[in-house]
Amino acid sequence: MNSNPSPPGMPLTPRRAPAAYVRAEIASFPLASMQAFRTAMMVLNPSLDGRTGGQTQQLWIECEEQLSQLAAGWSIDRLIMARDLFWFGFQPKTRQSEDPPPVTLRRYLRNLSRLYLEPTPGVTRLRHSDDSNAFDTSSHYRWLTFAFPEDLLLAASPCDPPPTEVAPGSKLLLQHLTDRGVVDIHHHLGAGMDFPLLWASMLARLADPSLTPTDLSGPGLPMGSGDLTLRCLLATAVVRCVLFEFLLQNGGSPVPFKEFLKALFASPSWTPNRRRLLLQTMAALGQRRRDEMPDFYQLRDLYLDLHPLGSELATSPPGTLNALWRKCDPIAVRLGLSIPNGGERWLVRHALRYLDFREMAPTSAQGDLIFSLLFWQVQRMRCISYRMVVQRPLTAGLQWFVRFYDRLGWARTPLRAARAEISYVVAGRGQRLSGLEVRISSTSTSFKLAEELRDLTRSWCAVQQKNGASEAEFAVIIHLLKERDRQRRWAEGKPPAGARRTHAEPHPHYQFRFGGRYSEFYFHQVEKAQAMAELLRAVPQALWLVRGLDVASDELGVPTWVLVPLYRYVERQAAMASVSPKSLGAPTLRLTAHVGEDFRHLMEGMRRIYECIHYLLAGAGGRLGHATALGIDPRLWAESTGSVMMLAEERLWDLVFEWRLYSRYRVDPHLQVEAPPGRPQHVENLIRQLSEGIFRRAQEPQVLAEVHHVLHQLQCPPFSREPEDVSLDAFLRSLTTLDPNQVHNYRRVCHLIHAHREDEAVFLRGQELVDITLEHSEVAALQAVQDGLRRQVSLRGLVVEVNPSSNLLIGDMLDLRNHPILRLFPPERVDGEPPPVPIALGSDDPLTFSTWLLREYSLLHEAGIMAGFSERVVHSWLEAIQKTGMDARFSVPWKPSADVQAERLVDALEDYLQVPDINRTRCPKLIHH
Ligand SMILES: [Zn+2]
Repeated sequence: MNSNPSPPGMPLTPRRAPAAYVRAEIASFPLASMQAFRTAMMVLNPSLDGRTGGQTQQLWIECEEQLSQLAAGWSIDRLIMARDLFWFGFQPKTRQSEDPPPVTLRRYLRNLSRLYLEPTPGVTRLRHSDDSNAFDTSSHYRWLTFAFPEDLLLAASPCDPPPTEVAPGSKLLLQHLTDRGVVDIHHHLGAGMDFPLLWASMLARLADPSLTPTDLSGPGLPMGSGDLTLRCLLATAVVRCVLFEFLLQNGGSPVPFKEFLKALFASPSWTPNRRRLLLQTMAALGQRRRDEMPDFYQLRDLYLDLHPLGSELATSPPGTLNALWRKCDPIAVRLGLSIPNGGERWLVRHALRYLDFREMAPTSAQGDLIFSLLFWQVQRMRCISYRMVVQRPLTAGLQWFVRFYDRLGWARTPLRAARAEISYVVAGRGQRLSGLEVRISSTSTSFKLAEELRDLTRSWCAVQQKNGASEAEFAVIIHLLKERDRQRRWAEGKPPAGARRTHAEPHPHYQFRFGGRYSEFYFHQVEKAQAMAELLRAVPQALWLVRGLDVASDELGVPTWVLVPLYRYVERQAAMASVSPKSLGAPTLRLTAHVGEDFRHLMEGMRRIYECIHYLLAGAGGRLGHATALGIDPRLWAESTGSVMMLAEERLWDLVFEWRLYSRYRVDPHLQVEAPPGRPQHVENLIRQLSEGIFRRAQEPQVLAEVHHVLHQLQCPPFSREPEDVSLDAFLRSLTTLDPNQVHNYRRVCHLIHAHREDEAVFLRGQELVDITLEHSEVAALQAVQDGLRRQVSLRGLVVEVNPSSNLLIGDMLDLRNHPILRLFPPERVDGEPPPVPIALGSDDPLTFSTWLLREYSLLHEAGIMAGFSERVVHSWLEAIQKTGMDARFSVPWKPSADVQAERLVDALEDYLQVPDINRTRCPKLIHH
């Protein structure tokens, strides 16, 4: 049955690249594309003829080619109309002159800003054109901000001072929600910043003497290699300083940039060598001699001279956000600015003003070519950096996400000491949140973890100070990381086929891997779980701060059963710590997991959700991260997917799972799934067939069902024994502890688990691909399983953590009106539907998805309205979501008070770290207003 909540008469929501995406790509192409960077063009020629070197024509050919694969259904005419509007400022349906003059990039950018934003200082609004509704305007703008850094558009607004931000359409509603209490329950600290701050941080890190050319690596980097990308960034940072110096000195009677350089070089500090280096850097960045980009270390030393303060920020990072703004960007340093994004805004504003003056002055029709060339190349490099770390639309799938995420590690080091404050400010964007739960990766030693927690608590003190008497809650959720292979071939873009040469392979390269599948992975994760347990044993009080355990990253990379013993172990250790008197009454740890977001077959997503609920969370309640598979409409999914190719072994487990639900094989009695007619027999046949292919002998469904169950129940050390007992063969040894009376078909089951975990031939046969046509029976099965699981989730009081933007980009939703949230927790109940699943909102990775918590609320507001629900219904819907967030939060109010607990916590952690008294820092005392 179709359960799409859209009221009848609603237009079908697009399943292809949305128009807003195509428009944003065209709009940003002259600044944000690699093609534009390579040509270093400064004017757009509407005639597209040979003038200005035919560059505009070339740029358009490349733009058209890139879009032709995405913009299915768009006629070339429509693309051209969008181009004419964005590049040349031609309004549709107006007559253009025969020979329109070239458009400088200054005019193009000012024009683009004017098209989208009202030119008002401070907080501005989106500009509504006559022929588009509010949703279109806002969604066009949203897609533009995926293509292009928003602050550039704001700074280019033709008013003085330019606006600093755009008000959300639902401002009053957001105010209302924050008054009631909004918590960000899903926020990864590693990407918990916005781009202007990351850019500032990059500008500091580039001056760090310990940075090496290999600190940035990975596939798909803008300049090909990490080394060249870093050199281009260094060149950008150097030239940016020189441009700033020029603008600063050039107040009264402007001289061209060339004259300024001459005067600059007259100073004794510019030795002939340095001069040569700077000229070479400029020529390379300006693409005049692009192959002669200077060496990394030469560039770094030159930049270090221009930004000496930058050298120390990676090793002794500033402890507050204000200090970061003041110290990271050399322009802010010179001007003494500590306002957010002060340096960059100053640069863009003054550069555009200078270009206004040059281009509009009657005597200098040529403008200042060198300045213009360098300034736009600097801006292009910044736009390209933006696209390097902000997830590109239509690159769905977690593996893509991991690539974007991996690229920002080197750049964020200077932010280290202020991370809690940064996350809080970014998530709320100036609004007060009631709480923040940040996720951090597990560490290999308890000392590293203690240091990290101490730093976070200290940084949280800055939030407490700013917030005064209203005490926001703070919690840390530690996540284990799934990875495919130790060498990270997947992350580096050299993925082998299937699961070969990953942790999944029992004996890669025909070597013997002791312990079979995932044994090494497990072994390394045990180290991390032990570090956590060790810290909680030593400092039980840390449970006030450490509130949850999670598993994240490459979801499909590791199966659930590998993680079960780790969860049980940490859970038990935390429970023991919480009853210790030294915990000062801290409640015990809560559980969540990233699950059901990435899948090849929707059934696979649901199977993993089932495994997570029953084995990982094991009845403990808690939350599910994303779990989009619960909300996706199976019919629509099947129609848009058509058929699925997946590994035979994954398919087999999906079928076994499905069979277990129909025959209620060791499942929770409340989990009721009604089998579609004829489906169970079909599934049984498929199981026999597939298992014969993999195990060389057909297996009965109930035997494999028992294998599936037992595999998730293995009592592995350190959970079952002393931590010292953990060895590579942990899983293997736990098999010997099984009670034959408790396991049906004991011998057969043990044999199959052995074969599955250790037999290379079984593994290789399981790697064959099976092609699944998503016909009627598959869809009916998906629908039945999804209904049952959803009922189960809501009966158990589990809450799904939803991140609309993240799902939009990773889950390939394309348009929020397709968002599973509208099915999962519909604004209005529809009769005959399974019960709604409670959801709570988080911002996930603010940088990567270019978002923040309150924007996520306002996106849902738009989606609800556009799906045809009334304002009143959408309001109470969002109120319910806000309340679920509060109820399901893991954070707790610190007792006896936030500041006292913070101080005690820092003390206890420093005791553990044995920090000598003289080196201890105190949290600043809270000033009560
Ligand atoms: Zn996440």
